[in-house]
Amino acid sequence: MRPLLAATLMAMSMMEPAGAAEPGLKIARAGTRAVTAAPAQNFTGTVKVEMLYTPEGAERASAGTVSFSPGARTAWHSHPPGQTLVVTAGIGRIQRWGGPVEQIQVGDVVHIPAHVKHWHGAAPDSAMTHIAITEAQDGKSAEWMEQVSDTQYTAAPAPVAGAPSTSPSQGRQLFGDIAPKFGQLTDEVLFGDVWARPGLSPRDRSLATVSALIAMNRPDQLRGHLARARENGLSDAELIEVTTHLAFYAGWPNAVTAIGVAREVFKQPRP
Ligand code: MN
Repeated sequence: MRPLLAATLMAMSMMEPAGAAEPGLKIARAGTRAVTAAPAQNFTGTVKVEMLYTPEGAERASAGTVSFSPGARTAWHSHPPGQTLVVTAGIGRIQRWGGPVEQIQVGDVVHIPAHVKHWHGAAPDSAMTHIAITEAQDGKSAEWMEQVSDTQYTAAPAPVAGAPSTSPSQGRQLFGDIAPKFGQLTDEVLFGDVWARPGLSPRDRSLATVSALIAMNRPDQLRGHLARARENGLSDAELIEVTTHLAFYAGWPNAVTAIGVAREVFKQPRP
């Protein structure tokens, strides 16, 4: 064999796959995974689970998207090697045994150390979705305990540093002195029911609401809703992009007004 040909053949053989036995990539396409109801013995309220992956062979980690309706939560439980939660929508609550109830919201990441007794779920007036990444030990990923009582669940969450005030009684605080029924409707129907419905994420509801208020040139209402939109996970750059987009559909002066309001709101630290 001539040297050049031999070298060419060797180079070609090095370009072949490392071995036929090596497993291929697995892609689970969006919309093809099963969504099941979480078991009632370990959860309170309506909770849906979509497993993203389950361990095979020597693997130990699993991941699932868990969607809690308002008021829904896990029972008390612990994880042998711990768990990480990535909040992908809404506002929720989490507590470790003996600690305060803490509010969690879209974008937050919570790590729960091994064997720490805790629960997690939605806020009473908002749905919450998180991705849970959990490792198993000897095939076991959770130790389930008693349910979280209503008294434990409704303990007031510790305030989140820098978060704008959007407490469930905000309507009563704003309007209660002169229009108590209107305050009650604001709290219980608008924010307690419509905003908490799982048909749209809080982020998307904020996007729709901010767009409408810009288009209608309502700076007083836009001010509060820009703060709420940041709390619901919209970035300042996205809110400015919405305003720029709407200048062409809702009118240039509306966008000018909205940018002035955004300048004030963005001076506050992000939640
Ligand atoms: Mn957990």
